[in-house]
Amino acid sequence: MFEKSNTSGSDSKTGSECLKIRAHHLCCIQGFQGYGYSQGFVANMRAVISDIKAFPSRPLELVSECDVICTSCPNQRECTAQQSIASRRIRNMDLVVMEKLKIKEGTVMKADEAFRLINSQLANASDIEEVCGTCKWRQKCLWYMQMKDKCENKT
Ligand code: SF4
Ligand code: SF4
Repeated sequence: MFEKSNTSGSDSKTGSECLKIRAHHLCCIQGFQGYGYSQGFVANMRAVISDIKAFPSRPLELVSECDVICTSCPNQRECTAQQSIASRRIRNMDLVVMEKLKIKEGTVMKADEAFRLINSQLANASDIEEVCGTCKWRQKCLWYMQMKDKCENKT
């Protein structure tokens, strides 16, 4: 699954290869329930998630550009067009996540640490809406639904 990605490092099979991941995809990965833009997208998403589960300490480079998930997405062209509405909207989701996590573009951290961090830093309903508010998958996304429930039960 890594052939087309911009990863660095020596060996994806040892869990040491650094995987480039859009910051907001830290949320999407946790919410994935098998829905997606195409069969190829879903298969790749499953492969990425399986890999991260197998290697929870795999380093992730957090970015606001196309990543290992985007490489199999039929929307990739639109999402990479510099000035398209879609690319700006999606990139903004990454930037919001980075701001909330207080990290910079290109920060590298272990996958399990990144998930812990995002689940603790996106702590209220407005944070979740800021990231996911325009996403069409909200009603199918486990992470979104669980985080919203958690926030609502806190109030
Ligand atoms: S609602 Fe959309 S953007 Fe938010 S985590 Fe789920 S799939 Fe990602
Ligand atoms: S919609 Fe855009 S950001 Fe999301 S996976 Fe597809 S190419 Fe990547």
